[in-house]
Amino acid sequence: MCRIALVTGITGQDAYYLASHLINSGYKVIGTSRSVVNSSRLQELIDTKSLSIEKLDLLDTNAVKTTITKYKPEHIFHLAGQSSVANSFDDPGGTFLSIVNTTYHLLEAVRQTSATSRIFFAGSSEVFGGNQKQPVTCSTPTDPQNPYAMAKAVALNLVQKFRTIYGIYACTGVLFSHESPLRSERFVSQKIIAGACAIANGEQDKLHLGNLSLQRDWGWAPEYVEAMAKMLRLEEPNDFIIATGQMNRIEEFVAQAFSEVGLDWEKYVVLDKQFFRPNEGLHPIADTADTTQHLGWTATTTMRGVVQKMVDACQNQMSRCE
Ligand code: NDP
Repeated sequence: MCRIALVTGITGQDAYYLASHLINSGYKVIGTSRSVVNSSRLQELIDTKSLSIEKLDLLDTNAVKTTITKYKPEHIFHLAGQSSVANSFDDPGGTFLSIVNTTYHLLEAVRQTSATSRIFFAGSSEVFGGNQKQPVTCSTPTDPQNPYAMAKAVALNLVQKFRTIYGIYACTGVLFSHESPLRSERFVSQKIIAGACAIANGEQDKLHLGNLSLQRDWGWAPEYVEAMAKMLRLEEPNDFIIATGQMNRIEEFVAQAFSEVGLDWEKYVVLDKQFFRPNEGLHPIADTADTTQHLGWTATTTMRGVVQKMVDACQNQMSRCE
């Protein structure tokens, strides 16, 4: 019998790579979206007959229950939700609903239907926020500093409680930033790559950015989805940090992106106060020892490789459009 995986937020970056990975591992994937999907990259997966897409409002608890009952997925990957910290300051309520209520509905659907589905929740390193104790592990107390992080912290807790109280196989991957050519330009990584390529191509003069001294741990999204899939194959459910463990300043990302296109970033980048966040918080350093030892997963692509691959993809895209 075909193994079924349900992936929420199928139009997103991670869902595309995860669906491809699961299909290659022999799964039939049901991808859910709030709207009717019209995407050429997903169409290629649909054409293999291994992906089908279901329009589902995860805020509708009955609809979620009906979907779980209908497909009885072996694995559920909950990736949907408002995913931008910056946007969460403008819409804290919507961000909370899209992360907390949707996670609750999926957990409840599994509990109420007695389904044996295993659930993965896409958590975030943002939950550690201003925590001063470094490096962080899954035992580090949360200290969220923005609405997105608050919602992710509540959902992380919900997942843990459904696991301990109801015995549901539910776990959270505490994900640090991970990038790919599919990343939206709402995120600083892709904004930098797109800006550097556009300037090199003579299509743009300057790139306006916020605080360049902030540090991030950047990984490669296609590798991170492999960690997600692995987490649901462990005998016992557990939360894991998914990160490279290496920190770089945004300035280093910028310098490398411009260097990849043969330019000196300092001639083109303008510091712009409008891109500074109200509360930046500290950025946690990941302790990945437990992930390597117990999940058997280690990131192999760090910032340098991420920037190279994203610049290559951006330049290829531009040359196709010329
Ligand atoms: P994307 O933003 O690319 O995709 C998320 C998907 O969620 C969207 O395609 C959208 O699908 C759906 N969505 C967006 N807003 C809402 C909303 N208000 N209510 C319900 N659904 C919504 O995210 P990524 O693929 O980058 O990330 C996947 C998950 O991992 C997210 O939960 C994110 O928070 C988390 N994460 C990602 C990190 C990263 O660096 N990429 C780091 C840490 C955590 P549709 O419109 O089709 O419904």
